[in-house]
Amino acid sequence: MHANGHPHDSHHEPAWSDPERTLSPAAVSAVVERLRGALPADGVLASQEELRPYECDGLAAFRCPPIAVALPRTEAEVRDVLLTCRALDIPVVARGAGTGLSGGAMPHPCSVVLSLARLNRILGVDPVARTARVQPGVRNLEVSEAAAPYGLYYAPDPSSQIACTIGGNVAENSGGVHCLKYGLTVHNVLGIRGYTIDGEMIELGGGALDGPGLDLLALAIGSEGLLLVVTEVLVKLLPRPPLARVVMASYDDVGKAGEAVAAIIAAGIIPAGLEMMDRKATAAVEPFVKAGYDLSAAAILLAEADGTADEVTEEIQEIERVLRNAGATAIAVSGSERERLRFWSGRKNAFPAAGRVSPDYYCMDGTIPRKNVGHVLKAIEAMEERYGLRCMNVFHAGDGNLHPLILFDANRSGEWDRADHFGAEILELCVQLGGTITGEHGVGIEKINSMCVQFSPAERAAFFAIKNAFDPHGLLNPGKAIPTLRRCAEYGKMHIRHGALPHPDLPRF
Ligand SMILES: Cc1cc2nc3c(=O)[nH]c(=O)nc-3n(C[C@H](O)[C@H](O)[C@H](O)COP(=O)(O)OP(=O)(O)OC[C@H]3O[C@@H](n4cnc5c(N)ncnc54)[C@H](O)[C@@H]3O)c2cc1C
Repeated sequence: MHANGHPHDSHHEPAWSDPERTLSPAAVSAVVERLRGALPADGVLASQEELRPYECDGLAAFRCPPIAVALPRTEAEVRDVLLTCRALDIPVVARGAGTGLSGGAMPHPCSVVLSLARLNRILGVDPVARTARVQPGVRNLEVSEAAAPYGLYYAPDPSSQIACTIGGNVAENSGGVHCLKYGLTVHNVLGIRGYTIDGEMIELGGGALDGPGLDLLALAIGSEGLLLVVTEVLVKLLPRPPLARVVMASYDDVGKAGEAVAAIIAAGIIPAGLEMMDRKATAAVEPFVKAGYDLSAAAILLAEADGTADEVTEEIQEIERVLRNAGATAIAVSGSERERLRFWSGRKNAFPAAGRVSPDYYCMDGTIPRKNVGHVLKAIEAMEERYGLRCMNVFHAGDGNLHPLILFDANRSGEWDRADHFGAEILELCVQLGGTITGEHGVGIEKINSMCVQFSPAERAAFFAIKNAFDPHGLLNPGKAIPTLRRCAEYGKMHIRHGALPHPDLPRF
């Protein structure tokens, strides 16, 4: 690895971060031919029809076809693809299942997409060490299914867990409903193996509790495919709790629901999940899922207790007491596993429900200190008026992780632009309140401008210096996650602050 240069040097802005750069047809053919030489016959896709499914991830508003898709089956083939692209100076965008919501796996126009979908084997479950060794293309839910015969499971549970891959989870440091109690991906991955663009194998972490030296494992988790391509992951498994029950509480005011969340944590309770949905979200979800939500409530909370029967009984009583004291207008407790799953089904289906009530929706992902939940919801209401768009709110409330779903119609002129600005203003508010511009979906291309708001030029230069140490040629997922100094300078001139567009006389791009 190289760590040359000074973090403030402007040449640390990689050349490939220019999204306008293109390749000649002859150069594209040369890349395809070299890849075909490195992989089996079915390992390279290059026709327009074959490339189309790879032109975006779950954030379909941003699209760009790659020049080719490489589908290796082994680590050696992954390395060959990387070395081929390195030799030809071609960018590489790693891809898992493509469920990302920040455009992280969206190709660069000159890039090869390196799909890890065929590295999809569970290499081993060790019930004694309570670990599983898996390839990156294994789906999140498959890990828990493989661990189930031993009474174990993998705790981080993104709502997309049926489809998203462990490699994608590592790259995004994904979370889920149960991460409040059991931690994010970074708390549940013990080690990874991966390859740099130069084909160098890197192993970070391992089976031991801690290791000497800098914690490069934590650095790699959440690095969005910018530092290395992950080819193997060692995850922690937990014993499945014998029982879980969920409390559903109604509030007549979103501010009170926010205060109830803070009261739970202040009482020393860490529920297995603590989620909130506002009335717009429950109204969209209920006809679709029939979860039994109180549609008269301004907001509902779902708080889960898990453990042994005695632990659950005690914690549920305590949760009920705190929620009542915080002004709950109605409380229901799941009486069976079926009912518990029904209560959760609405929350888990909130995104598809948004798709039923609006032609398009834009899912934001910011975090705030928990005490500000009510304040932010009121501010979002005012933004709905200002931007002329509706917004449903779904939260990992216990973590202060917001998921405002901005509803719009991309076929109506100007609506996507308004949704985009609406989202950026929410993120800016999160930063003002001491929060962050992403809780779990990553920065990708979507929030790259908001990074200019969250971090100073010196901090961003330090990020580039780290990127440069792993990927000195700037070939891995260029143009994502870290904005260049130039981009931030342009954004500073052009972006909407507190609803007002600076320099309204300037033409927009
Ligand atoms: C309906 C829905 C619900 C969702 N719910 C949640 C949720 O509750 N919590 C949450 O955190 N996210 C959620 N997501 C977002 C998404 O599922 C996660 O970000 C997930 O981790 C992405 O995994 P993936 O395999 O689809 O990765 P992709 O989308 O393919 O890639 C994501 C990023 O990871 C990089 N990458 C992928 N594989 C590798 C690898 N092997 N090595 C290096 N880099 C790699 C890519 O370059 C890209 O930058 C949701 C998405 C949808 C569509």
